[in-house]
Amino acid sequence: MTLTKEVKKKKQPKQGMLENVMKQFNAAADMVELNPNIKKILAVTNNELIIHFPVRMDNGEVEIFKGYRVQHNNALGPYKGGLRYHPTIDIDSVKALAMWMTWKTSLAGLPYGGAKGGIQMDPKKYSNTELERITRRFTYALGENIGPEHDIPAPDVNTSAQTMAWIADTYMSTKAPSERSKNQHVVTGKPVGSGGLEGRDRATGFGVFLTIKYWAESKKIDLKDKRFIVQGFGNVGYWAAHFLELEGAKLVGVQDAFGSISNTEGISVEGLFEFIKNNNGAVQGFPGSTEVLKEDFFGLDCDICIPAALGNQITAENASQIKAFLIAEGANGPTTVEAEKVLQEKGITVIPDILCNSGGVIGSYFEWLQNRNGELWELDEILAKIDKKIREVFRKVLKTSEEKQIDMRSAAYFIAIERIEKAYIQRGIFP
Ligand code: NAD
Repeated sequence: MTLTKEVKKKKQPKQGMLENVMKQFNAAADMVELNPNIKKILAVTNNELIIHFPVRMDNGEVEIFKGYRVQHNNALGPYKGGLRYHPTIDIDSVKALAMWMTWKTSLAGLPYGGAKGGIQMDPKKYSNTELERITRRFTYALGENIGPEHDIPAPDVNTSAQTMAWIADTYMSTKAPSERSKNQHVVTGKPVGSGGLEGRDRATGFGVFLTIKYWAESKKIDLKDKRFIVQGFGNVGYWAAHFLELEGAKLVGVQDAFGSISNTEGISVEGLFEFIKNNNGAVQGFPGSTEVLKEDFFGLDCDICIPAALGNQITAENASQIKAFLIAEGANGPTTVEAEKVLQEKGITVIPDILCNSGGVIGSYFEWLQNRNGELWELDEILAKIDKKIREVFRKVLKTSEEKQIDMRSAAYFIAIERIEKAYIQRGIFP
């Protein structure tokens, strides 16, 4: 009896993201008539690393952590992808997220492959000094499995510029003094004072906004006074909302890990951002807002819905409630394949994650180049470069979707997979 309880307590919720990405990949591979041998290669991950490592806690006790790094494919360049600190991380979810990175970097035309990683833990339970030791020890344990020309991590859920600074410093400290500065680009998303890129903080949310803007322009829709809701008010959700508000759109609902709020009159994005700083990061209780039940959030009356939290949030169960005409996927894998069918029947457009949130990896690419070349770029210049790249990729996806009469996700996969297939065909398989 006690044993059963113990097992139940320890079991992590199943996310099902791997099934989701595999269904998307198989459908796309059939559509492109992908070479069967290349399909075999892309259907699996190249390397999967699971590391158990000890860390001394503030109270003197030692705790063992479980960290992951999965490298899906590097046909187009070094592996690239974020690190997530979350209790629901498991090998399957990291594999799925690594695969999405491969499609995303390929679609954006970047010289990168795809990877993802993280630590299975709830960072809220640890002090800042503990988080620093956990991060540094994990970096040390990863050793040469990461590297500036091999595999380059970046921030993701519950990791930040500070996390990246600790990783860079730990990695560089293991090198000879003359080699230190050559290794700064082992991670991107660093603080600006430590080799980071001006504007990398807003790159993903800016990209989400740009894809919405370019889609609206293509449909001759004015974003002024359009109502939007955001799930997740972290890095991606906040910055996407910030840029949409500047364009005249109105935030009417927000959900985070602690609760959901709405206000049909509008929620001030900057007001909410200031409020959560003194409210443990939570949106609940924001003045003038009404609390909403978790299960009612996606059914709020709005025009645009931005899932910017975790995977598998829009499901066959809640998709029918959605009133928005546009879903912009700030998060990775927020919509299940089954939910997408419901959305298509309802005529709701989805800007797919591998396009919608690619501003982040595009910004990371510029940071990597800046470090590699010893250059320093200014904010205006960087935002203009991200805008140019997103505009190009968005137009390519829209054109493919119109020409082939397919949805934007299928079009994005079409372009991404074709580019990798071409590289394999040109190079062949060693030996
Ligand atoms: P973050 O840690 O800064 O913020 C996450 C937000 O989601 C927080 O507001 C949190 O409260 C909320 N959240 C967590 N669990 C939730 C739940 N169960 N229900 C509702 N809200 C919940 O993370 P982020 O960097 O903004 O990343 C968000 C998403 O965007 C992730 O899917 C990530 O993979 C994706 N993404 C991030 C980047 C980046 O540059 N940070 C780039 C591309 C994609």
